[in-house]
Amino acid sequence: MASDRRRNCTCCGKHDSEVGPISWRGNCAACGTALLTENVLGIANREGPAHLRRLRGIAQRLERDYLDAMARKP
Ligand SMILES: [Zn+2]
Repeated sequence: MASDRRRNCTCCGKHDSEVGPISWRGNCAACGTALLTENVLGIANREGPAHLRRLRGIAQRLERDYLDAMARKP
C-alpha cells in the first residue's frame, strides 16, 4: 500500500516519480524486496544484522519472562 505522505524512498533516496509508489514503511518496491530478501536469508543462514536483531528480540523476551517469574515467586 502506498503512502501519499512520502515522496522519496528512505533506503535509496530516489523520488517516487522515478521508482514508483513509496510504501508506508518508506521503501520503494525494489528496496522493499531487497530488504525482505536480506531479512529472510539472514535469519535462515543465522548471520548478519537480521539474525542479530532476532536474537536481541528473543533475549528481551526471555528476560521479561524471567523477571515476571521472579516477581510471582513468594
Ligand atoms: Zn528505494
